[in-house]
Amino acid sequence: MDFLQQLGLEQENKGVSTGSTWIDSKGAKLESFSPVDGKLIGTVISADKAAYDVSMEKALAAFKEWRMWPAPKRGEIVRQFGEALREKKEPLGKLVSYEMGKSLQEGLGEVQEMIDICDFAVGLSRQLYGLSMHSERPLHRMYEQWHPLGVVGIISAFNFPVAVWSWNTALAWICGDVCIWKPSEKTPLCGIACQKIIAEVFAKNNVPEGVSCLVQGGREIGEWLSNDTNIPLISATGSTRMGKAVSTAVAARLGRSILELGGNNAIIISQHADLDMSLIGAVFGAVGTAGQRCTSTRRLIIHESVYDTFKNKLINAYKQLSIGDPLDSKNHVGPLIDKDAVKLYLDSIEKCKQQGGNFVVEGGILEGAGYESGCYVKPCIAEVTNDLGIVQHETFAPILYLIKYKTIEEAIVLQNGVPQGLSSAIMTLNIRESELFLSQAGSDCGIANVNIGTSGAEIGGAFGGEKETGGGRESGSDAWKAYMRRQTNTINWSTNLPLAQGIKFHI
Ligand code: NAD
Repeated sequence: MDFLQQLGLEQENKGVSTGSTWIDSKGAKLESFSPVDGKLIGTVISADKAAYDVSMEKALAAFKEWRMWPAPKRGEIVRQFGEALREKKEPLGKLVSYEMGKSLQEGLGEVQEMIDICDFAVGLSRQLYGLSMHSERPLHRMYEQWHPLGVVGIISAFNFPVAVWSWNTALAWICGDVCIWKPSEKTPLCGIACQKIIAEVFAKNNVPEGVSCLVQGGREIGEWLSNDTNIPLISATGSTRMGKAVSTAVAARLGRSILELGGNNAIIISQHADLDMSLIGAVFGAVGTAGQRCTSTRRLIIHESVYDTFKNKLINAYKQLSIGDPLDSKNHVGPLIDKDAVKLYLDSIEKCKQQGGNFVVEGGILEGAGYESGCYVKPCIAEVTNDLGIVQHETFAPILYLIKYKTIEEAIVLQNGVPQGLSSAIMTLNIRESELFLSQAGSDCGIANVNIGTSGAEIGGAFGGEKETGGGRESGSDAWKAYMRRQTNTINWSTNLPLAQGIKFHI
């Protein structure tokens, strides 16, 4: 495990940091077991309230300095952060794979996403544009500026243990904000590794302590962040249950939140689809990361005329899947994150059967050599109708539901007929169908793809979804605006004081 040493990880780690300083805490000890082999990777001490308060003080003080750095200079720091990630790509990718359980390719891909968002943010640091407007009053100038917000609180999920942090920080930092991050308690070592990488870059450049803070721990620490009036913006990634709690707490103090919550993503497979191409998109979408992506394909909505053909192709493809150690590139599917996730997977299969689902590829737990962690499960497929309770719910596991349709209009109703609205796709070579799907009468999701599956997004676009997915947008396009406050400025350079709307006021 030399990647652990290369990342500076110890067997026992402090979990609270303001940059180069690691703070003592009497919080609970988190133990990180790898779902790959069940072994203890290391421990991390959670934040207690005193340590949390120290980090917040540092963050608030750092903001006063950091906001005065010119944005392109902040961009230069993020450029160096991207360089540091390039150097650490291999060990960090391996850690992601070992601690979270996704394939090494996907672990490396996640670090690549971090590098990409840094590149994006560097360019953006010279493009934080406001508009200028024509004033209705003579000799007046009106324009808008974007100013930094302050402390950004980041709460992240286990399944993208490093990328989600960087999607937020790379933008927040060039915008002049400081960040305080609570990683998932299921992947705390990824949090330590990221903080060590950024601390080195910051120390070299005399960036004040507090621009990157880390407060490890469970739900309680997330609650401290959500309720803290020092934090104008909370960016929270995780389940819809968590998002509802966070958004209620943040709204109660009239703070802002970016919510990136659960999905229930479908691909429509039309009778006009290239079925071989569709097969790759569907299988990767359903079994990649063992079905633990927010954009994983959970439902296939298949035209009745190609339903049986496509079902048989899927069944054959599932027979070829090899399940095992995700660090071994021969395997397609790794483990679920932990035994709780395995239990949820089994419960969902049971519920699906009770509700009338018909399994055409059976699930189950894998046992024996190589599966000692107890977290490896078989990807499975059930024929269902869209209205089943279990189909309406996001199960974070490789369970794929097949649904039949007759008309494209019906397929779109089915696709939209769930509480979540993250990612969606249509496989078709028919331009009328694809345009309908992308139109205002089509998919109601934040992401809608044609001839691409539901999972795997590029950082250049704004990422996020509607309805119970929470409505937040991160990453590319103009997502940066959420990390800043807009100020409208009007300057009078005349010798009079004309009032807006022509109002007359004499004294
Ligand atoms: P989770 O909701 O259990 O936990 C996510 C984070 O929220 C953790 O850090 C946890 O400690 C914290 N948390 C939990 N309850 C909280 C509360 N009441 N207040 C404050 N913080 C709280 O999610 P998970 O199991 O880690 O991740 C899986 C979920 O995340 C799935 O639903 C998945 O779809 C979603 N997800 C969404 C996106 C997206 O961009 N839309 C990306 C990744 C994951």
